[in-house]
Order: sequence, then structure tokens, then C-alpha cells
Amino acid sequence: YNEKVKTVEVPGGYSGEGFFATTFDQVIGLARKNSIWPLPFATSCCGIEFMATMASTYDMARFGSERMAFTPRQCDLLMVMGTISKKMAPVLRQVYLQMAEPRWVVAVGACASSGGVFDTYSVLQGIDQVIPVDVYVPGCPPRPEAIIDGFMRVQDLVGQESLRRRHSDKYKELLNSYGIQ
Ligand code: SF4
Repeated sequence: YNEKVKTVEVPGGYSGEGFFATTFDQVIGLARKNSIWPLPFATSCCGIEFMATMASTYDMARFGSERMAFTPRQCDLLMVMGTISKKMAPVLRQVYLQMAEPRWVVAVGACASSGGVFDTYSVLQGIDQVIPVDVYVPGCPPRPEAIIDGFMRVQDLVGQESLRRRHSDKYKELLNSYGIQ
């Protein structure tokens, strides 16, 4: 290391040799945002766009996210794509509950976000009726570029995530509003 490191001045009055100034939250956030593991929950056409997004042309490996898994306990990002019927809603909710905290959710496309064109008795009018959603990606279907844009917005959230937020009263209130303890 160089001389500049040795003479660094840190707000708060600390200074001296080899002092490394940062916050624990930022280090964790940086690591997490570059190693997000998605869990695809795809039921229809938007899922095809997601397959294209995960192919080599769009190279999700550059975000550290080429590693998909279908085991909720190994994933921290739930990507919901397609029409979710009311019968499917409890399954989606169960998958969400099986994921460990911290977890994030993206609603990909009009159907997952709002029911889309399927304003019918059997279709859930948006997955946020059963689980909290962090990012909505518009489109029917959204192109891979739009899905990547949504993914990068999740990265921003993950990078800024405070370890304290998950234990805050406000976050507990949010989960409680979905009947999640
Ligand atoms: Fe299919 Fe459009 Fe619904 Fe996506 S938003 S699942 S493309 S109908």
C-alpha cells in the first residue's frame, strides 16, 4: 500500500497508518449486489423473454447472476414472469416464504404486475396482492433490455440495503400487512 493510505484523514477524528474507512453495510451491499442468485417463477410468455435474457447474448454473468436455481432456499431474487392464476397464488407465496431473508422480488411484465390483459375471475391482478414486490418491469412482454434494467434497479436496492432495515418496525409492518410473521 502507498503513502496516501498511511496519511488518510477520516471524519470523526480518526487517522493513522492503514486505517480502512467504510461501513459494514456498504461492504455487504457491494458483495450481495454482484452475486444475486435469481429464482425464475415463470408461467407463460414472459418466461421466454427471461430465457433469452439469460442466454449468452445478454451475458448475465457480468452481474454475477448467471447462476439460476430452482431451490428457494438458495436464491435471494424471485423473478415472477407470466400470468399467475388465483390457484397458483398460494404456491407463489409458499415459494417466497421458503426464501431466506434478505430476499427481493421482481414482477416481470404486465401479467405479474397487474394481471395484464387477463382481467378475469381466475387471474391474480398483480402478485403484490400476495407478496411484497420491489421492482416492476413494464411490457407485454418486456424485452431482455427491460428485464436487465429491472435487474439493475434491484442491484441498486441491494447495494443500498441496510442490515438494520430488515429488523425495523416498518419492514415488519410491511410483512404483517401480507400476513407474514
Ligand atoms: Fe404473456 Fe404479455 Fe402476460 Fe408477459 S405480460 S405473460 S407476454 S400476456
